[in-house]
Amino acid sequence: MNDNNDFREVIEEDEDDRRTKIEDIINDDIDNKDDEYEDICYVCRRPESVAGKMIHIPGDICICNDCMQKTFDSMGSFNGMNMGPQSDNIDFSKMPNVSMINLNDLMGGGFGMPQSQRLKKKQADRNGKPKEAPRIDIKNIPAPHRIKALLDEYVVGQEQAKKVMSVAVYNHYKRVASLDNLVEEEDGVEIEKSNMLMIGPTGSGKTYMVKTLARLLDVPLAITDATSLTEAGYIGDDIESVVSKLLAAADNDVERAEKGIIFIDEIDKLAKKKNTNQRDVSGESVQQGMLKLLEGAEVEVPVGASSKNAMVPMTMVDTRNILFICGGAFPDLEEIIKERLNKASSMGFVADLKDKYDHDENILGKVTVEDLRKFGMIPEFIGRLPIIYSLEALSEDMFVRILTEPKNAITKQYRKLLAFDEVNLEFTDGALHAIARKAREKELGARALRSILEEYMMDIMYEIPKDDNIGTVCITEDYIEHRGGPQITMRDRERLPEHKALGNGAQ
Ligand code: ADP
Repeated sequence: MNDNNDFREVIEEDEDDRRTKIEDIINDDIDNKDDEYEDICYVCRRPESVAGKMIHIPGDICICNDCMQKTFDSMGSFNGMNMGPQSDNIDFSKMPNVSMINLNDLMGGGFGMPQSQRLKKKQADRNGKPKEAPRIDIKNIPAPHRIKALLDEYVVGQEQAKKVMSVAVYNHYKRVASLDNLVEEEDGVEIEKSNMLMIGPTGSGKTYMVKTLARLLDVPLAITDATSLTEAGYIGDDIESVVSKLLAAADNDVERAEKGIIFIDEIDKLAKKKNTNQRDVSGESVQQGMLKLLEGAEVEVPVGASSKNAMVPMTMVDTRNILFICGGAFPDLEEIIKERLNKASSMGFVADLKDKYDHDENILGKVTVEDLRKFGMIPEFIGRLPIIYSLEALSEDMFVRILTEPKNAITKQYRKLLAFDEVNLEFTDGALHAIARKAREKELGARALRSILEEYMMDIMYEIPKDDNIGTVCITEDYIEHRGGPQITMRDRERLPEHKALGNGAQ
């Protein structure tokens, strides 16, 4: 009875004291006694056969795992942490104030469990929804043309890029499967990694393509900006932090992370700085530092942090099977390519005009390793990205297709939104081209489409729900060009005489 009161006191005391006390008590004695009597939980009174293995605390008190967990839960909520109804799914090892007590450690026979075993593997996704089957099974990877067909559903144009990517991914995951099955050991042939370098102007869909691919393959994806990386020890993220991000994207499941994709954007910003004597900690040194990651190595990475320090747990991740895709706009690369091409074509009898390549929008497609070296990428780095391809600059027609064709096209999204109000949304061809022209002028690539459309849809989304009689709204070129309003058709199909006042479009 006395012991019971002692324990209650511990519970009711100030939160910090209580936590230390419970820790002390548990640290004192973790006794895995095995006697002929069944232990009974001091709190819930359930026997060991029902409640599972007990934790022994001094005074011959046994507490079951559930009750101990409840105690920690309440400590967590005292601390201002609202854990919600799903506190059972919370990884306590990640919470700074309870990380000292890990029940799994206790049940497994004491402290000192290797860090790697604390990493949690999740079965279902965060919302508890059953997981959709991936559209591409990486263990049984479909032929490249099938991968491309799936990409076609989402990505408009960029035929060459989709083709190259499909083949590279096909080869990569075939290689991963061969390593899993140790096929290479029999014949001594080792397939090399198919890391990629994607060159394309901003907004041409580099990130979008990688995201789509990762979703189809159902592999974890980490997207990092190369500009945030610095050589270890300097302000900025360590190079290994890209692997930490991937680990986080894989819910700290090391095995899953090891088959994931890392996309490093803005890789062109790592180019060697010209005319500088200072140490280049965020450019060339980062290229150097990334070499072993790209090639495949066992790296020690911080779990849940971007740089190593004494407080952060570490784990080993093998990057051999991680697919690295680097992307960048390489702004001055066009000049370098043009210069090379002009030089080659200005010699001999078949000399071309000097400005032959000046208006070639897809000059990036003619890039060579030499050009990249000239741009400032170090040869060892380019050598580890054997697949180099470029994305086309988007034409007006491609913008129109991006607006309408992909599964998740923006116009389809607005159509769905208005369908909730039982209103039909239509766009005339002229309107779509007018939007595309405006987007092209902004020189932000396809990214500009959403903001332009948003501008015009604003009034419509505001006005339409006011009037229950509206059946169809048609966005016309006049509306986009500020020459009139959209065409409204009422539910009884009776067309209003002139443009019904909905404002004169976005100004
Ligand atoms: P970046 O090349 O700068 O990484 P993004 O991949 O972020 O460009 O592209 C911006 C947006 O443009 C994407 O979210 C996507 O919706 C759209 N987009 C770009 N290119 C295409 C394309 N070829 N097909 C469909 N959508 C595209």
